[in-house]
Amino acid sequence: MEESSLSTPSRTLTLESIPCNDCEKTDSPRIEHSAGLCSDDRDSIDSIILVCGPRLIRSGFWQSNCLRDNVVMFMNCGGSEIEGTGPSDKISEDSCFERGDVIETGEPIAGSGSYTALYQSARYGAFSYKIDGITPGQYFVDLHFAEIVNTFGPKGMRTFDIFVQEEKIVSGLDIYKIVGANRALQIVDIRASVVLNEPLVINFQSLTGSPIICGIAVRKASALPPVATKMGDLMDTSAVQNKVRGTLIARYEKKIQDLISECAAKSEECFNAWCCVESTSENLRQIEMELDSKSLKNGTLEQTVERLTGELNELAEKYQHDKKRWAQAVSDLERKIKVMKEEQAKLSKEAHACVDPIPDLDKMTKAVQALVAQGEELKSKYSEEMARSRRLFNELQESKGNIRVFCRCRPVNNDEMSSGYKAIVDFDTARDGEIGILTGGATKKTFKFDRIFTPKDDQADVYADASPLVTSVLDGYNVCIFAYGQTGTGKTFTMEGTERKRGVNYRTLEELFKIAEERKETVSYDISVSVLEVYNEQIRDLLNSNPSSKKLEIRQAGGEGLHHIPGVVEAKVESTEEVWDVLQAGSNARAVGSNNVNEHSSRSHCMLCIMVKAKNLMNGECTKSKLWLVDLAGSERLAKTDAQGERLKEAQNINRSLSALGDVISALANKSTHIPYRNSKLTHLLQDSLGGDSKALMFVQISPSDNDLGETLSSLNFASRVRGVELGPAKKQADTSEVLKMKQMIEKSKQEARLKDENIRKLEENCHNLENKLKGSNKSLQEKMEIQKTEFQATLEKQNRQFSEKLKEKDEICLTLHRKVKDLETKLRQHQGQSTENILLQQKVRDLETMLKELREKPAQMNYFATPKANETDQSIILGNSNYNKPPVAATVPMKDSVLLSGVESLHEIKRKRISRDSVPGDNENIVPVVEVKKKSLLIESGNSSKTRRIDPTRGLARLTRSTVGASSIHKALPNGRAVGKEQPTGSKMRGWAR
Ligand code: ADP
Ligand code: MG
Repeated sequence: MEESSLSTPSRTLTLESIPCNDCEKTDSPRIEHSAGLCSDDRDSIDSIILVCGPRLIRSGFWQSNCLRDNVVMFMNCGGSEIEGTGPSDKISEDSCFERGDVIETGEPIAGSGSYTALYQSARYGAFSYKIDGITPGQYFVDLHFAEIVNTFGPKGMRTFDIFVQEEKIVSGLDIYKIVGANRALQIVDIRASVVLNEPLVINFQSLTGSPIICGIAVRKASALPPVATKMGDLMDTSAVQNKVRGTLIARYEKKIQDLISECAAKSEECFNAWCCVESTSENLRQIEMELDSKSLKNGTLEQTVERLTGELNELAEKYQHDKKRWAQAVSDLERKIKVMKEEQAKLSKEAHACVDPIPDLDKMTKAVQALVAQGEELKSKYSEEMARSRRLFNELQESKGNIRVFCRCRPVNNDEMSSGYKAIVDFDTARDGEIGILTGGATKKTFKFDRIFTPKDDQADVYADASPLVTSVLDGYNVCIFAYGQTGTGKTFTMEGTERKRGVNYRTLEELFKIAEERKETVSYDISVSVLEVYNEQIRDLLNSNPSSKKLEIRQAGGEGLHHIPGVVEAKVESTEEVWDVLQAGSNARAVGSNNVNEHSSRSHCMLCIMVKAKNLMNGECTKSKLWLVDLAGSERLAKTDAQGERLKEAQNINRSLSALGDVISALANKSTHIPYRNSKLTHLLQDSLGGDSKALMFVQISPSDNDLGETLSSLNFASRVRGVELGPAKKQADTSEVLKMKQMIEKSKQEARLKDENIRKLEENCHNLENKLKGSNKSLQEKMEIQKTEFQATLEKQNRQFSEKLKEKDEICLTLHRKVKDLETKLRQHQGQSTENILLQQKVRDLETMLKELREKPAQMNYFATPKANETDQSIILGNSNYNKPPVAATVPMKDSVLLSGVESLHEIKRKRISRDSVPGDNENIVPVVEVKKKSLLIESGNSSKTRRIDPTRGLARLTRSTVGASSIHKALPNGRAVGKEQPTGSKMRGWAR
């Protein structure tokens, strides 16, 4: 066979052929790469063509590209001969094949070039070609393919290897994969060498499906370049294959290296990404936590916001509501203002209308204003004066001493009404503290007390006046309150009262609790109560329901002179509710007896003692004080009762204790060094609460039906005796706050005084000026007045001298008369029992007393210009010589024949003068004349006899003596006085308190 001169096509029709760089440089098989062919395709083609040199063309054969001279053989595999344009273009029929089958198609084959029929038939199956008769030499073999069998089959239906001269040229050719179905494909320039007598063998071996071939062309190859020839000589086919493999391996290794480094980069990237993810998730966790706390906070905040919103809503609502209200109010006010403006306009119009006709209106207005100012000034002055007078009144009350005497007259009762009661008490001057008693005919006696309570005054009125004194117990003072009077005069009513008309006792405790409650911030009080009864000189505890047989005795506790009775019940009371029960318990247990004056007349002294312990919470100061509320036993004279035996003993004890009380008060009044507290249980019990800085109040209870009321009141000594008694200014236990208050008050008073002085000075200046003015005109008048004044004074002095001389004379007569009385009394005692003589002597005494009275009345009349009361016929006039021209101290408190009534000062004066006049050494009877004069007032009615007797006045004298002449005479006089009482156990000479 002839060596083919078929040329390599320069280009394809369907795809642009791009020579590979590697193929250009080396002798490796060249592949026509299409523009736009992806690297994958190239790779697959590389993997198909295993040797270098051959090219893959994705289209069919073109006649124009063919170098006819070089073609040795061109056959149409599986088909018949194809005629060309010339003899050289002819394609021979299929031959030189072994086995295989033929396949043909009428379908057009895309890109089939100049010979479509070439690609429309093919040999397939297990076949090979052995072409004999070819001249030895180098040849190119071109193979033509088209996918005919499975035109529409899936990719990879057939893959097969191609061996030329036993060398594997192509491995795993997959036509469909490269060009698809019914498209032409060529592998050209497969170099093959033919040796002598050896055929050209082309073998097809299946990998999957069956191999296929459309045409085979054999061309004569040009000689290889010398080097290449030389190299070709040197290189065998396996070397070429190895080179290709090496290239591929290097390529793959490079690829692997690239992939490894890419993988490392990716791992690095992954690691970084992982780290990033880790830190991000850490951040995320933190953020989550933050988020949690934030959401918690958010929750709280939400709640707060909700609450606030609620509040805000409320406020808003309120605001809206208020706004509406205010708007309403504002509009109301605006309306009102409008109305008022209109009214004002109207009024000013009217005012103008009024002013015009009254030109002096301005003047009048000013005058009225001045008057109003004046009125205001007067008002303030008035209130100042009122305050001053109140202060002065209080001071006056203080100056009256520590003992007050109030008189209370009870209303007339039904019995008295029915038995024809006649009014004998006159309360006209009760407000001034005076009570008038009609003593038969037109004569009227007046008695003065610190306060008079008429039957119209109720319990509250009575308590109101006692209250300041009572409550001073809370300030640390000891206080005694007595109800004195005959049975049935209302002592118990005043002190205890009834459930509906409660008395001093209950009201006192009630007020103490009230004040204690008010002061509880500064002072704490502890109040307890004892209720005692003194009966027959024995003390009974009325609160003790199981009294022991042991006698209760008074003991002195500590150095403070406090007295107490061991074993006595001290009921602690904390509220007013408890008080009434305690008082009732005491009252019920009180001993009562019956006699014909009043069946339930009390024959014992009922003594309620309120003990107050106070602690000042500011300075820790403690005080202890006592308030005694004493319902004394009846003071009626024994003669009025039909007492005998036990009753008589009761009566005697009562009179004795009442006398003792009188004595104590008297001794206190006279500032005696010895106060006879121990003469009765009553006074002994009160020892630490009477006198000193204590305060006392005596209710003298009287009955309007007492026909002897004048006499009864005259017989009272303490009403006048306590008047003006100076027991020293009341001292209370130190309380610095009080002292401070007092100091401030004093300072204020001083300032006021200074202001007043200043005012007075100004007034004096004014007066002086006025006087100077008046002087000129009134000089002569003044001179005349001066002369008259001097004359008047001279006359007065002369009269005074005369009066003094006369008084001296009368005093001497008095003295003589006193002596005579004394003598007569001695005789009287000697001849006691000889009634006729007695009567005669009594008559004489009476005559002498009348004379004495007349004598005494004369100086009183001489001194009458100084006494204001015309009706005081029984004026007490025994006054000291130096006092004759002064108004008597007790002139307003008349008491029949009572020396004691003349006031303590005058008593002292009298005694001093008498003693100096009659100071005969060893004469202890120097005061007898006074006593003789007093004798008349010592009349006491006998218990058994209706006869009135005179009794020994020594007792009255003794008391007087005690208070005036020292302790030695007291002890001397006192036993005598008592002896008289003892000598007369039948009580025929029992005294009332006063005498
Ligand atoms: P005393 O205790 O002095 O013996 P009472 O207190 O028992 O006297 O009084 C005798 C009677 O007079 C009682 O029935 C009492 O209620 C009545 N009585 C006393 N004073 C008054 C008064 N001021 N108002 C009304 N009744 C009184
Ligand atoms: Mg009574």
